[in-house]
Amino acid sequence: MGRFDGEGSFTREDFNRVLLAFEKQFGKPLPVSAQGETAVHRALGFDHRDRVDVGISPDTAEGLWLRHYLESGDIPYYAFRNSVKGKATGAHIHMGPPSNRLLKTD
Ligand SMILES: [Zn+2]
Repeated sequence: MGRFDGEGSFTREDFNRVLLAFEKQFGKPLPVSAQGETAVHRALGFDHRDRVDVGISPDTAEGLWLRHYLESGDIPYYAFRNSVKGKATGAHIHMGPPSNRLLKTD
């Protein structure tokens, strides 16, 4: 898994900028797989509000472009190359701060 912390913030304006830039670059919409809180994330116990998952493998041309774009914009992201048990459902790029557990175990 690759991660980049940037400034630690991911705003709606950041998201809109990424959407437009991706579409301009590749001529198709950004393949968003989860925007904000979803039933899956809730079931896994993760806070996914103000976070977005994109169904792009981090090492494809699109994934490399997106990671570079996020880094140059100081936007935090996590690059998942494989499924992580209990955390991710497949290769994707998570934009925004990490998903903290909704329920504290301590
Ligand atoms: Zn995510």
